[in-house]
Amino acid sequence: MSARNTLVVYLAAISCTLILFSGAGHISATKLIASQQDRQLGELVRVALRRTETAVDHGVNAVEKVASQGPMGCDAQALQAIRLQIYRSGLVKDIRAISANGVIRCSAFSETLEFDKQWPKRSQMIPAGNGGLRLFRVEQFYGTALGVQMDVDDGNSVAGILGLDGALLDIMPAELRPFSNVTLELADGSSIAKARPEPLSGGEGNMTAVNVNSQRYPLRIIVTIEKGALQSWNTDPYWLILTLAGMLGILFGFLLARQIVKPTDPVAALDKAIAGNEFHPYYQPIFELGSRRVTGAEVLARWIKADGTVIPPARFIELAEDTGRIEAMTWNQIERALSDMRAILATNRMFKLSFNIAPRQFLSPEFLPKLEEIVARSSAKPDQITLELTEREAFPDAGQAICAVRRARQKGFKVAIDDVGIGHSGLSQIQRLDVDGLKVDKFFVDAITDDNSATVVIEMLVRLARERGMTLVAEGVEAEAQIEALLSCGVHSGQGYVMAPPLPAMQFLAHYASHEDAGSGRLANQASRGAA
Ligand code: C2E
Ligand code: CA
Ligand code: CA
Repeated sequence: MSARNTLVVYLAAISCTLILFSGAGHISATKLIASQQDRQLGELVRVALRRTETAVDHGVNAVEKVASQGPMGCDAQALQAIRLQIYRSGLVKDIRAISANGVIRCSAFSETLEFDKQWPKRSQMIPAGNGGLRLFRVEQFYGTALGVQMDVDDGNSVAGILGLDGALLDIMPAELRPFSNVTLELADGSSIAKARPEPLSGGEGNMTAVNVNSQRYPLRIIVTIEKGALQSWNTDPYWLILTLAGMLGILFGFLLARQIVKPTDPVAALDKAIAGNEFHPYYQPIFELGSRRVTGAEVLARWIKADGTVIPPARFIELAEDTGRIEAMTWNQIERALSDMRAILATNRMFKLSFNIAPRQFLSPEFLPKLEEIVARSSAKPDQITLELTEREAFPDAGQAICAVRRARQKGFKVAIDDVGIGHSGLSQIQRLDVDGLKVDKFFVDAITDDNSATVVIEMLVRLARERGMTLVAEGVEAEAQIEALLSCGVHSGQGYVMAPPLPAMQFLAHYASHEDAGSGRLANQASRGAA
């Protein structure tokens, strides 16, 4: 993978996982903060309730004490004693004697009766437990109070008026205090006290409420908070969680990208490429050195990856040979080349296609029958197919090689020895193999213009070829001077960059058309139309 593609994979993987992890971090941080806020608010409401219950306990005790002494007396001495009790209690504002029909018989502070806006009927009071205790709202001109009434006997009750002020409910933390209110309500919904007398600025829809009911008295505490204020309360963990999630996302993305760009097993990659038809035949013209007329082409494999990268054979042929993948690749190249070159092969019977065949495959008994079968299905005749024996290793069994060459030639195929001069084929082996042609290695062609010994070797090969009726092709011809030198040595056929590098099928067809003699004008037009 190229450095640019690697960078793209890293950037893409890290961005994806960063977004994913940050999203998950945002959701979990929001949930965590919300549940933490719920827990803290629940705790605060319970504190307010406990305070209120303790205050009500206090008032109920005072009333109970009076009631336990029988029907409350209304004489000056009895009222004097009750006033003393009220003074000691602090929380109780007044204690009154109530008759069976709910009428106030007398009050510890008789003046306070004038403060009442109204006194509730017994049926309007809310029973609290089984002890004849009732709670109710007392509306007075200076505010609202909680009434506690306890029955003494069938005809008499004692009622206490408890002043529960807002300070009792002042439980909210400083950050929320201006945006919240705490209300004490009776079970019937009537409000008894508020932490803040003034209403909150936020409308109904922008408020959230938490409430908790008392298990002992028909009372409940309600906390209302502006949503906006709650959203920014105790949100410190948010950024911490988001940062951690982001860092985890980057780490995960990095590991993921490393996994993606990790070099895959080369054999598995080769198999995948074969299955994906990623090996393409390229064609390098073989031409007459004198006339520049193209007489054939050598098929050279190129691995073209999905991203367009072209891999040369030096990077895969040896592995393919060593792992037995070369067979499948060779058949694929032959089939595709016969199809790509169908028109030329059919119209120019002198045109030859050369294929590189590894010795082991060439020697296998299945090779020749399969080749015959494929060629029979194509537009080519066997004598248009040259098998170049590439000798990376020496022929394991010379006798077997001689037989295989003979059989292939009997079927009409041409056989050539590749890399002559540097391969394993010595002169004697070349003679024994009895092939149709030789390909002189680029090594000698490179040296021909300035090294006399190269000329000597080439002239010797020319003589040998002439004697045995073999063709001779010079490989790797890069310069005009080399063409001149080769011609003067008696080599008439060549292949090299001086003419063209290995080309994709369409480009080769166009090249062929422009270098073919006038007789193939029809084909030339056909090919250039195809290339366009
Ligand atoms: P080769 O059969 O000797 O092929 C000639 C090589 O020389 C090719 O290299 C070609 O591109 C290169 N060449 C041609 N003209 C010039 C030139 O003027 N200058 C220079 N510097 N190089 C030139 P390529 O295509 O890289 O192939 C390398 C080798 O891989 C081939 O050597 C052949 O042995 C093997 N090969 C290629 N395709 C196949 C295949 O399909 N099957 C098998 N078994 N072997 C293959
Ligand atoms: Ca070759
Ligand atoms: Ca060669």
